[in-house]
Amino acid sequence: MRLSRYFLPVLKETPAEAQIASHRLMLRAGMIKQASAGIYSWLPLGYRVLRNIERIVHEEQQRAGHIPVLMPTLQSADLWRESGRYDAYGPEMLRIRDRHDRDMLYGPTNEEMITDIFRSHVSSYKDLPMTLYHIQWKFRDEVRPRFGVMRGREFLMKDGYNFDLTKEDALHAYNRHLVSYLRTYERMGLQAIPMRADSGPIGGDDTHEFLVLAETGESEVFYDSEITDLKFGDREIDYDSVEQCQSVLEEFTSRYARTDETHDPAIFDQIPEERRRVARGIEVGQIFYFGTKYSEPMGATVQGPDGKPVAVHMGSHGIGVSRLAGALIEANHDEKGIIWPWEVAPFHVGIVNVKQGDATADAACEALYKELTAAGLEVLYDDREERAGAKFATMDLIGLPKRITVGPRGLEKGVVELTDRRTGESEEIKPELVAAALT
Ligand code: ATP
Ligand code: MG
Repeated sequence: MRLSRYFLPVLKETPAEAQIASHRLMLRAGMIKQASAGIYSWLPLGYRVLRNIERIVHEEQQRAGHIPVLMPTLQSADLWRESGRYDAYGPEMLRIRDRHDRDMLYGPTNEEMITDIFRSHVSSYKDLPMTLYHIQWKFRDEVRPRFGVMRGREFLMKDGYNFDLTKEDALHAYNRHLVSYLRTYERMGLQAIPMRADSGPIGGDDTHEFLVLAETGESEVFYDSEITDLKFGDREIDYDSVEQCQSVLEEFTSRYARTDETHDPAIFDQIPEERRRVARGIEVGQIFYFGTKYSEPMGATVQGPDGKPVAVHMGSHGIGVSRLAGALIEANHDEKGIIWPWEVAPFHVGIVNVKQGDATADAACEALYKELTAAGLEVLYDDREERAGAKFATMDLIGLPKRITVGPRGLEKGVVELTDRRTGESEEIKPELVAAALT
């Protein structure tokens, strides 16, 4: 992408309404624009990041054997009356009436709708296990939308639902989700710690939240510091293997890690004092097992091996896709701007032409731009007629992992400069070696 032809409305001033770094930086870097309270447009740079997060979530879901679908944002109130949640959900639910006076709502979650799909089409235990998921916008009329996309009213969520014959099978689905979530967040360059949590309006007993540690997090968390040493890494997991998923779950949840709702001081105090941590975290996901809570009232049954009908055991599993864009910035920024992890970066590399209009510099930039793009990298070429200082400031603000600085002086020596955004370290390198250094 050539910056001269792109739409990157960066702000020079720090917006007054933004209280935390990620909100400030998303506005300043021209990633989002507020449409109304808690509702945002995603501008080109932000949309690229959102799509990268979505792509990783899709890939990891499908790696775990989960099947993508897409359900609508608008739902019929009747389905929610069946489960009893239409009245229970309260003012967070945006209720809408259509021209025929039918009660509709903008979905805050999809347990009812997916259960309806399931009961309409699946009738035998032979079709199980099954996990369906989608990535779709949700609406919750939060009392205090704040912190930009972190607590929006309209937000993008991956929500998945497992259908299993027995509780045992459903607990495997739960464990499988836990494993795939660990992988998903790590691939984004984030450490998200699974913590025992409280189930809230979804209901059920078993639930873990995934929290990214950050001072600006809304949840108070209590954990054993040893847990932050755990890495999922690149281990190969057979998601069908009950033992393998169970052992990962045990490894990542034996040590104490809880949110304030489930915190138990009596147990916490048994951890050696130097390992006890009280901190704050951003919730980026949650998994639930809730058994037959929806399948029973809604009649989602299958014929079991003995021919008798059985209500299926279910769970639901959410990832805050749009919130992650903010959480990633909370965990990756400095005083100059954002520092994107490679996998989610809107572009991998920025080319700064320090002397636009100089024939050699322009030619060298064009050649690099073509070559790097052909090598499969996403490249943003700053080809504007701007001061070098302003170009550097923009690159630092938008946080591309690598920057290539091209100018007549370096080119005379046959080199360009390659800079790493995170470490700030630069090296001189021959232009023809750049592609190899970045791929
Ligand atoms: P919270 O406690 O933060 O209100 P929740 O527990 O109600 O969230 P879930 O129903 O577990 O949310 O939804 C799954 C994920 O969706 C959450 O882990 C979070 O990452 C994301 N999410 C929930 N509410 C919002 C929101 N208002 N804005 C952005 N993301 C959200
Ligand atoms: Mg939650």
